[in-house]
Amino acid sequence: MTDKQVQVVFLGAPGSGKGTQADILAEKLDIPHVDTGSMLRAAVSEGTEYGKIASGYMEQGQLVPPEIVIGIIKERLLKPDTENGFILDGFPRNTVQAEGLDSILEEINKELSCVLNIEVDESILTDRLVYRRTCAQCGAKYNLKFAPPANEKACDKCGGELTQRSDDNLENTKRRFKTYKDETEPLIEYYIRKSLLQNINGNKSVEEIFEEVLKAVNDN
Ligand code: AMP
Repeated sequence: MTDKQVQVVFLGAPGSGKGTQADILAEKLDIPHVDTGSMLRAAVSEGTEYGKIASGYMEQGQLVPPEIVIGIIKERLLKPDTENGFILDGFPRNTVQAEGLDSILEEINKELSCVLNIEVDESILTDRLVYRRTCAQCGAKYNLKFAPPANEKACDKCGGELTQRSDDNLENTKRRFKTYKDETEPLIEYYIRKSLLQNINGNKSVEEIFEEVLKAVNDN
C-alpha cells in the first residue's frame, strides 16, 4: 500500500482497542506490531530477570521502571524486521519513555509518522477490560458483553480455551486507569507540540475505527 517507512505510536486508555487496531494495521502494512504489555507478559512467564522485576508492578497496575521497558524497546527496534517501519502499542507510557523513544529514533535514524490517540467514552472502558477474553490457542479476542463467543469457555474459531488476563480484574483496572490519567495522558500534549497527534474516535466498530486509522496513516 505504501513504499515509505511507517512508524506509528498508538496512544489510548486501557481498553481503548489500540491493540486490536495495531494488530490489523501491522498485518495490512506488513510491519511488526511491538506491544510492550505482551513482551513483558512473555518475560514474566519465561521467568527472565526483567520478568521477575516487572511482575510485581504489573499485578499492581503500575508502570514497570523505564530502564526496563526502554531497554526492551531498543533491543526490539534494532532488529532487522523493523527496516520498513513498526507500530508501537503501549509504549511510550510517560514522558521519560517518550524522551527515551526520541533518543532511540535518533540513533536508528527514523522519525515517527504519526501518533494515533484512540478516544473512547470512559463509561465503556471498564466493561471492555473485565469482560475481555483471549483464546490461549489462536489468540482470537472476545468480549463476553460486547462480542461474546457462542460458548463462554471456548474459542469459536479453533475451540481453544478462552483465558482472562490476571490483571483484567475490577480493582486492577481502576489502578490502571489512574496510572493512565496521571502518567500517560500528558503524552497527548507532548505529541501535539511535535505536531504528530491525530485523534481517532474509538466509539465505533472495529472496521469503522480502522478506516479512520488508515486514513490518518496515509495522510502523514
Ligand atoms: P498492557 O498489556 O499494555 O495493558 O500492559 C499491561 C501492564 O504491563 C501494564 O499495566 C504495566 O504494568 C506494564 N506495561 C506495559 N507497557 C508498559 C510500558 N510502556 N511502561 C511501563 N509498564 C508497562
